[in-house]
Amino acid sequence: MDKAADSALLQEAKKKAGQCDRCGACLPVCPLFGAKDVELSSARGKNAIARALAEGGIESTPDALAAVNFCLLCRACVENCPSKVRTDEAMIDLRQFLVERTGATNAKYRAVGGLLKSPGLVRLAAGTLAVLRRLGLNDLFPHGMAPDEYTRAHFLAAFAGPAALGQKAPSADVTVTAATKVAYFYGCGMRMMFPRAAAETLAILQTTTRVLRPDNVCCGLPHLAHGLRGEFLALARKNIRLYEDADLVVSDCASCGGTLKHLASFFADDPQWRDRAAAFSSKVMDLTEYLVKVGYTPRRKVKAALTYHDPCHLVRGQGIKKQPRDLLQATGKFIEMEEADTCCGGAGSFHMDYPAISAKILGKKLRNIERTGAAVVVTGCPGCLIQLTKAAKSSGGKFKALHISQVI
Ligand code: SF4
Ligand code: SF4
Repeated sequence: MDKAADSALLQEAKKKAGQCDRCGACLPVCPLFGAKDVELSSARGKNAIARALAEGGIESTPDALAAVNFCLLCRACVENCPSKVRTDEAMIDLRQFLVERTGATNAKYRAVGGLLKSPGLVRLAAGTLAVLRRLGLNDLFPHGMAPDEYTRAHFLAAFAGPAALGQKAPSADVTVTAATKVAYFYGCGMRMMFPRAAAETLAILQTTTRVLRPDNVCCGLPHLAHGLRGEFLALARKNIRLYEDADLVVSDCASCGGTLKHLASFFADDPQWRDRAAAFSSKVMDLTEYLVKVGYTPRRKVKAALTYHDPCHLVRGQGIKKQPRDLLQATGKFIEMEEADTCCGGAGSFHMDYPAISAKILGKKLRNIERTGAAVVVTGCPGCLIQLTKAAKSSGGKFKALHISQVI
């Protein structure tokens, strides 16, 4: 047996994967199985890898790490699994275990993780990307990571009804009082890729209350997803400390919000941080969740037909499906698309590591968007928005991709 078999993380992964009875119900819903039609791509195959690692059937090698890295962490399998096997969490456990055992974390992940740990470097990267966009050189940046960013004004000029343009934003019917301390969480993706959308988020929040803006650090999801759990926990502690004075923490990034809501589970065995982490997680809200709760009325009506893509970290990570649709229906004509909650193939760095498979998954999303005839596809996660912006370009301008803050 591999000497690592006694690792607590490995045993934890085995415990989760061991609940898989190999029924195969996850196969039709796994986007990777759909794209590759290979058993090991599916949740059933990945759970078999976890068991084999724990039982010594396969060695802890960089190849094993590559196999467990080949997962979107989209949770479609979990939602459709009769035994509710948490395959995505087992893969995260295994990634950390294998990174520690093999030291094989890709240098790129370590470099990106290092950048995201430093607020100064994140600001520098955001400024550089903004300059590239202004100079029209963003296409030189690989993987669509310096996407075009449409403004709400651009969108409204094309699609708003004449009576709506120039109207003062209506006051939201809020139940949050002046005493409620609402803080914004400015995620790295929004800061670097979609700062205009983030500015719209702030403008919307400010119609509901005075907004605090602590100088937060990365939510840590990129570190966690690549097995760098120590770095993830260090970032989490910083954010917990920073937001201790806030009553609510609002995120306009599904990935950040989903991660922050789950921080408590990572500190459950840490007596020093358990209560603080639980208090923090309990006050995190997605932007749409917050806006519906406070009775926000969209600032303008638009004539354009809108459709919506559910980010995995919002629909399955946080159970939020209705709120964005309610807001879009109050804004304009909303058209539901088929498979709206199927992963777009972005999945953090997955689209960079596996561009061909990611493009295949995105191609299906593109066809579903086009079938709606909508002029705009809306979403609530910068990771998805990078993918949808690529899809919008591929469509030859048939539709645009916008963050929900740029529409409502
Ligand atoms: S649906 Fe669940 S139990 Fe069935 S094969 Fe997939 S992971 Fe295993
Ligand atoms: S999390 Fe998504 S990509 Fe990973 S095995 Fe489950 S369905 Fe497939």
